[in-house]
Amino acid sequence: MAKKTKPHELYEYDYSTGTIKPKNKICSRCGRFMAKHLKPVPRWACGYCGYTIFIH
Ligand SMILES: [Zn+2]
Repeated sequence: MAKKTKPHELYEYDYSTGTIKPKNKICSRCGRFMAKHLKPVPRWACGYCGYTIFIH
């Protein structure tokens, strides 16, 4: 059985602006959702292809 991510876990509703925005970044290399890590340094990391974006 394939693991399926539910849409409501990937998006959050912004009540102040009335818009829905993705919680996570999309990996520009493979198109999957990226995970946010704060340690040791703040960054977005793709668990599939290893692509990393450092947060400045
Ligand atoms: Zn990726």
